[in-house]
Amino acid sequence: MFDCTIIGCGITGAAAAYLLSHYDLKLLVLEASNDVANGSTKANSAILHAGFDPEPGSLMARANVRGVEMAAEICRRLDVPRLNCGALVLAFSPDDLHTIRELYARGLANAVPGLRLLSAVEARQLEPYLADTVTGALLAPSSSIVDPWEYALAMTETAVKNGLVLALGRGVREIKLPDAAAGKDYFELTDSQGQRHQSRYVINAAGVHSDQVHAMIGGHNFRIHPVRGQYFLLDKNAGHTCRHTLFQCPTAAGKGVLVSPTVHGNLIIGPDAEAVADPDNTATTAEALEYVRRMALRSLNNIPFGENIRNFAGVRAQSDRPDFIVEASPQSPRFINLAGIKSPGLSAAPAIAEMALDLLAQAGLALKRRADYDDSRRRIRFRYLTPAQQSELIAADPRYGHVVCRCETITEGEIVAALHGPVPPRSLDAVKRHCNAGSGRCQGSFCGPRIHEIIARELGLPYDAVTQNEDGSYIVTEPTKGNSDKGVTV
Ligand SMILES: Cc1cc2nc3c(=O)[nH]c(=O)nc-3n(C[C@H](O)[C@H](O)[C@H](O)COP(=O)(O)OP(=O)(O)OC[C@H]3O[C@@H](n4cnc5c(N)ncnc54)[C@H](O)[C@@H]3O)c2cc1C
Repeated sequence: MFDCTIIGCGITGAAAAYLLSHYDLKLLVLEASNDVANGSTKANSAILHAGFDPEPGSLMARANVRGVEMAAEICRRLDVPRLNCGALVLAFSPDDLHTIRELYARGLANAVPGLRLLSAVEARQLEPYLADTVTGALLAPSSSIVDPWEYALAMTETAVKNGLVLALGRGVREIKLPDAAAGKDYFELTDSQGQRHQSRYVINAAGVHSDQVHAMIGGHNFRIHPVRGQYFLLDKNAGHTCRHTLFQCPTAAGKGVLVSPTVHGNLIIGPDAEAVADPDNTATTAEALEYVRRMALRSLNNIPFGENIRNFAGVRAQSDRPDFIVEASPQSPRFINLAGIKSPGLSAAPAIAEMALDLLAQAGLALKRRADYDDSRRRIRFRYLTPAQQSELIAADPRYGHVVCRCETITEGEIVAALHGPVPPRSLDAVKRHCNAGSGRCQGSFCGPRIHEIIARELGLPYDAVTQNEDGSYIVTEPTKGNSDKGVTV
């Protein structure tokens, strides 16, 4: 019997898992994918927004501002790459100048620190390559960028190290409400492997599928209308095209197309906003990418699109309500919906999790802090060590002397460490998210086969059972001696 089960392990579920694991509780996470952070959390702009955009007084505004304050501390504590690069919202017209003044006022109301309205000349002093058509800007110095995968992974790993049970490849298929009359004072969740789990409390953090999960207990008071956004990711050669995140003025459709450095030194450009029927539709299209390209060139006229190394798309969990949904289900006070978590959900996640804990406590969950909590996460990043530190590491473990991913200088030692970490990656794409091997200019063309061999060797899988990403995405052929599609629990 679990005290609380979290459905979904994107940034929202991971933050809830992390905060809850500080208490004396039996916790379970059921995640449909074979890895954490494989939904919206893996495909977004990676901005920890300053908080000038959400409507003052909204849940979104409160969660955004509190969330980024918490994120700074969590990233520091758990060794997650985060860079306080600041952001500019660019104006191109008198209407835009009006909008940035409104955003400035909203930001003040939301208590965002350091906001300043800049003339075009002042903006150009910060970003020399701004387009000539820029007429002014709002500067938000507290805006940051983060590695969203590692942020979610670090919180999950820490929760697992502290006793949380993480079941990957276990999508929830059916949920039975507690039935006190039958002596069953707990939810019964059945997963995609047919296994049943009993839990006294449930958090629904299933992203674009959160309405379907709520419907499993007969809840129908919100719907998700997925909105896709597409991106270019440019090579590190283009990473210095701008130093700040460059936004355009937001519209009803969203925050608009941005150009931003990433924490890994690349340049990210996107997204558009397109309603899609299928919440899992992360295909890219030539039309949308052309729109993103055109819009981005309004901000900076020298973007070297020839340095593009990858296009990708993410899907926003836009709901039929204007704000985040952070509330107990009308079906049961012990079932907490964290739904409609569109942007700024990455920024707001820890604050949303904090609100979820309050709701759980109000519903009767006893929260007793643990004295023995271990959040001492540290990751070896070979490429950032001094030559002396590198030599010392190689002497202790020669696998750190074997560079597998040449673009990003990721060693065999780092890949092996990830594969034996608290949340082992089980596919090539997961290895990329967990330790950056294969995320560089060649996108795994060179190192892919070597990483494939290392995964098979270290996890004891048949060579042909290793997948590119989700279960079933075999690289070589259909497996002959068994496969990895049974889910894994750590
Ligand atoms: C294009 C785009 C750009 C964005 N840019 C930003 C930004 O710059 N800054 C920002 O703050 N926010 C941004 N966001 C928003 C942010 O990415 C999301 O708010 C956040 O990732 C949502 O996290 P989540 O955990 O709620 O959902 P997800 O990351 O989607 O996680 C939900 C998880 O639930 C799992 N799941 C689904 N159904 C089931 C089931 N039945 N059983 C078990 N598991 C299940 C899924 O596999 C998934 O792993 C952006 C979003 C998009 C799409």
